This record gives sequence, structure tokens and C-alpha cells, in this order.
Amino acid sequence: MTPPTTPPTSGAAGEGTLRDRCGRPVTYLRISVTDRCNLRCRYCMPAEGVELLDRDEVLEFEDIVFAVQTANELGIERVRITGGEPLLRRSVDQLIAMLRSETDTREIAMTTNALLMKNYAEALAKAGLDRINVSIDSLRPDVFDQLTRRPLFEQTMRGVAHAEDAGFGPIKVNTVLIKGYNDDEVDAWVRMSIERDIAVRFLELMPIGEGAPLAAEGRYVNVSDVRVKLAEEYGLERVDVHGNGPARYWRVPGAKGVLGFITPISERYCNTCTRMRLTSTGELRPCLAWDVHVGVRDAIRGRDRDALREGFTRAAEIKPEGHHWNVGQVTRVGMSTLGG
Ligand code: SAM
Ligand code: SF4
Repeated sequence: MTPPTTPPTSGAAGEGTLRDRCGRPVTYLRISVTDRCNLRCRYCMPAEGVELLDRDEVLEFEDIVFAVQTANELGIERVRITGGEPLLRRSVDQLIAMLRSETDTREIAMTTNALLMKNYAEALAKAGLDRINVSIDSLRPDVFDQLTRRPLFEQTMRGVAHAEDAGFGPIKVNTVLIKGYNDDEVDAWVRMSIERDIAVRFLELMPIGEGAPLAAEGRYVNVSDVRVKLAEEYGLERVDVHGNGPARYWRVPGAKGVLGFITPISERYCNTCTRMRLTSTGELRPCLAWDVHVGVRDAIRGRDRDALREGFTRAAEIKPEGHHWNVGQVTRVGMSTLGG
């Protein structure tokens, strides 16, 4: 499948802010700092035979800072550090400190599986990281092990506690609902949101990388339907929660925490997408769904600001209008490479 080629729409571009060809502003950059991971989530990475990048292909911290400075000039003011597993990148707290002191980024966040949080929580807080999202796909150790292929549930939950102790609460939890594995745990998560100041976000399985065969097996769960059912059952009320993403938040009346619903397939939100991704090897990827990218590693390593600006502009120009997952599109490159 080739990306749709909708002509540019007119859009009043704010001065200096990068806009894509559909007029959407590009204000948010997700940066993958490694392709490596200490879990093997079924929908993300294969059990074995993962080909790892040579270390000299991966951007250095100074490279990332240069890229973010350039992004700032173009109006990108929020970044998220991700991977693979970002805490596997040695001294990742130093990257956060550098981004904080050497760039004009308004908000720096991280998405992690929290396994190594004990080593990093305090350093990340000191470095100036604003927020942490943790991916936890099950509250039952046996299901967690099946989904991640590693028996590390307890360590993950301790990781969340370390992050909270370091001042990162309320933590946002990402949980991908997968039929036959964890779709019967929704009520347990709702109970947790009632008891704890936490944001539990239900995600739809996307047909990306290893997620595609699972979706083809019929394991996709419609998260909009889940929200409707929970609204009836618990009388959910809509709440505003700060975030850059597509999640919409609701709360059980009187609950300490909130529930978020991320529905890329059942309620497509591509028309509001403000994202761009920078992979660990220096590719700018304007859309998760399509294998379109602009290589900017040489521009970054050569500290060629003009060429890098041009790379960002080109990536915005080729940003597709949206995905076609609901009509059979499958994305081959996996999330651990794209920087989920
Ligand atoms: N290792 C970190 C983690 O798991 O949070 C960061 C990288 S991971 C690729 C980022 C997010 O992508 C996770 O929340 C994960 O659940 C999500 N993800 C990966 N593959 C997915 C898929 N096929 N469908 C939906 N979400 C996916
Ligand atoms: Fe690793 Fe995150 Fe992918 Fe799981 S979702 S395999 S933790 S990169």
C-alpha cells in the first residue's frame, strides 16, 4: 500500500511553526534512544532472532541535543524519550539533563517498562524529566509473563513505586488490550483507578510489526466499546488531563485516578496528529503507519543545521494524511524500531 496523497489544505501556519501538508502543526517529537529491550512483548518484538543495530549507527546524546535544538527552532516544544527500552541506554539521565539545559524544550517525558527504574528514578527527577508513562499489560503475574515473555511482573511494579517515590506521580500506565490475554482485566484496572492516583490508559492493538499477526488472529479489542460499557456500568465522568497524546480521559465519580482511552482504529484521530518521530539511527518518521522517512543522520552528525531543518520540513511534507489500518493496511516496521 502506498500512502495517500491528499493535496495540501490551507492552514494558517503559526509563525515559525512547522506544518505538514494537511496544515497540522508539528509540535511533538518522540525520540527513540535504543532499539534494545529487556522484554519481548508479543505485539512488539519477536521471541528470538532480534537483529540489533551496531552501536556506531546509533545517535549520541550530543547528536540528539542538536536535533532537538533544531526542532525547537521549528516550533517543536515537547519531546518524549522512548525506544526499545530507554532505560537500557546507559546514563540516559544525562541526556535528560542535557536536553533540559541545552534546548528550549517545554516538556520532556519518557515512556518505559520501568524494569530499571530503581537505578534511574532519582537521577531522572534531578535531571529535570517532567513525566513518566509506564507500560504494564497485566496485573496478573502469569499473564504478564505470557505477554512479555519474561517473569518480571514484580520488578515492574517495584519500578512504578520507585518512580512515584522520586516524585513522578501520578504515573500514566499504558495497557494494550489483547483478546484472550488481558481483556478480562478491565475491571481490575478500573478498581485500581478508584483506589490510586494513577492514569490507566487502554490502548488498541495496532497492526504494526509483531502486532499484525495478533490482530489477524482476531485479538484486537475495540477500546471505544470498552469505554461505552464502562460509562454505563460506572457512570464515568469526563475529565481534562494534561497530555500531548490522543488519550481522552474519564473518571469513576469519586475515584482518585482516571481512565484514558486510546483508540487509533475505532476512533481515528489522525486529523489532530502533531507528531514526528526520530529513530535511534537518525531517521525522521512522520507517521507510525507508513514506511516513509527522511534520513537525517549525516546532517545531525555533520552539525549541518540547514540540512537538518530541510530534513524536518521534508518529513512534514511527506506526512501521510492518516493510516489505513481499518481497511487492511499492515505496517511492517515494529514499534521498538519506530519509537512507540
Ligand atoms: N519499552 C517502552 C515501553 O514499553 O513503554 C517504550 C517503547 S514501547 C515500543 C512504547 C509503547 O508502544 C508501549 O506502551 C507499547 O505497549 C506500545 N506498543 C508496541 N507495539 C504496539 C502495538 N502493536 N500496538 C499497540 N501498542 C503497541
Ligand atoms: Fe520492549 Fe516496550 Fe516493546 Fe515491550 S513494548 S518489547 S517493553 S519496547
